[in-house]
Amino acid sequence: MNTNITISTYNLFASWCLFTVLGILIGILVLNDTDEATEGEAEGSAIYTVTAYCPCEICCGKWSDGHFANGQEVSFPAIAAPSNIPFGTKIHVPGYGVAKVKDRGGAIKGNKLGVYFPTHEQAKQWGKQELKCEVLK
Ligand SMILES: [Zn+2]
Repeated sequence: MNTNITISTYNLFASWCLFTVLGILIGILVLNDTDEATEGEAEGSAIYTVTAYCPCEICCGKWSDGHFANGQEVSFPAIAAPSNIPFGTKIHVPGYGVAKVKDRGGAIKGNKLGVYFPTHEQAKQWGKQELKCEVLK
């Protein structure tokens, strides 16, 4: 009798464990699905005023020396962000893509970002846009 009770208790416990694990797995799957379904809604996303710029003197003035503020030679793509976002942070800018923060700017403060383009024409085409950008972890 005692043995039978022990076995059924063990079975109950085993079932409980199985369901708990399944529950966690399902929870993870559902959460992942939710993340995909609401791309851009993730933590770290906010509305930014995104201004385009190129390495020319019109855009960069005395800073048009062919280098970003992080010391690297200018290259596409790149983002200028306020100093509270460290160099190397990846940001998703809708219409521009995912790029790393490589530059700073006097006007890039608060909820402002700059997206780098190789030519002034491309920068002008982008102009200034209010976009929901996602700072990626
Ligand atoms: Zn320019």
